[in-house]
Amino acid sequence: MGVRGEPKLRKYIPILLFLIVLTSCAAPQRRGALLTEFPERPIFEAAISDIGKANDIDVSKISLYWGDGSTIIITDDDKIIVGYDFLYRYRCREGKPEYIYCFVAHELAHYKLSHLGKRKAASYVTTALMLGLNMVVPGAGLLNLGLNPMVTSGYSRSQELEADSEAVKFMDKQGVEGARGKYIEALRWIYVGSNPKTGLMATHPQLEDRIGNLN
Ligand SMILES: [Zn+2]
Repeated sequence: MGVRGEPKLRKYIPILLFLIVLTSCAAPQRRGALLTEFPERPIFEAAISDIGKANDIDVSKISLYWGDGSTIIITDDDKIIVGYDFLYRYRCREGKPEYIYCFVAHELAHYKLSHLGKRKAASYVTTALMLGLNMVVPGAGLLNLGLNPMVTSGYSRSQELEADSEAVKFMDKQGVEGARGKYIEALRWIYVGSNPKTGLMATHPQLEDRIGNLN
C-alpha cells in the first residue's frame, strides 16, 4: 500500500510547497495580546507624525500597537491598533508605505472629528433606552446587543465616508500630489479578494460607495 501510494503522494508535493510558502508569509504569530514591536512600525510612526504635523493634530497621546483584528482601528483611549490580517495582507499582497499613510490618515480623521465620542454617546443612549425597555419587557435588554452601534461596528456609514473625505484633505495639506487618486488606489488594494460580509473590510461601507463619495 505504501509503495502504491507513493506516486499519488508525489502529485501533491507542489501543492504542499505552495502551502508552505503561503504560511511563511504569515509572519505575525502571537494572538490575543497587544504588542508594540513589528517591522512596519517605523512607517506607521512616520505617517502619524507627518500627517499630524501637516494638519495641526496633536498626536502626542496616540500610541501604536499591533494585535488581533482585521483592519486598523483607533480606540477611545487613543491607541492605533494594526490588525494581524492587515499585516498579513501588507506583507503578502504587495503593500506599499503610501497605503499605510492613507489608512493612518483615515484613522486620524476619525480621531480629529471625534467620531468615537459621538458614537459612544449614541451607544449610551441606546443602552439606557434598552435598560428602560427591559423593565417593561424582561429580556428586551438583550436586543441592545443587536442594536448598539458600539457593539456591532465601530463607526456609522456616514462617519466612514466623512473620514475618507477628511483623510484626502489631510493628504492634500501634507503636500501629497494626486492625493485622492492615491487614496482610492489604497482602498482598491485593501478590498481586493476580501469577502464583503466576513472579510477585512466587513465593518466598512462597500468599496464602490467609498469611491463614489470621494468622486
Ligand atoms: Zn473608518
